[in-house]
Amino acid sequence: MRTCAHCGEEFEPSGKGRPPRFCSDECRKAKHQRKRTLTAQVKRYERLAAQPYWGREWRLKADDARDELEALGGDPGPDG
Ligand SMILES: [Zn+2]
Repeated sequence: MRTCAHCGEEFEPSGKGRPPRFCSDECRKAKHQRKRTLTAQVKRYERLAAQPYWGREWRLKADDARDELEALGGDPGPDG
C-alpha cells in the first residue's frame, strides 16, 4: 500500500517497475503543475524583491514559495 504524494489517498500499486508516487494521472499532473507554478512564483517574487521599497514583502513571499516547492521535492523534473 502506498500513499499518494498529492492527495494523500492510499492505493495499491499495480504493474511492475518503480513504485508510483501518485494514485492517479490526475494527481501526478496536479503535483507537477503545482511545482511549475511555484517555480515561476519564486522567480517572479525574487525579481520583485530586488525593488527598493517593497522588496521585503516579496522576499517573504519568495521564501514561502521556495519552502513549499522544496516540500514537494524541488524543481519539477521530467516525470514530475
Ligand atoms: Zn492522489
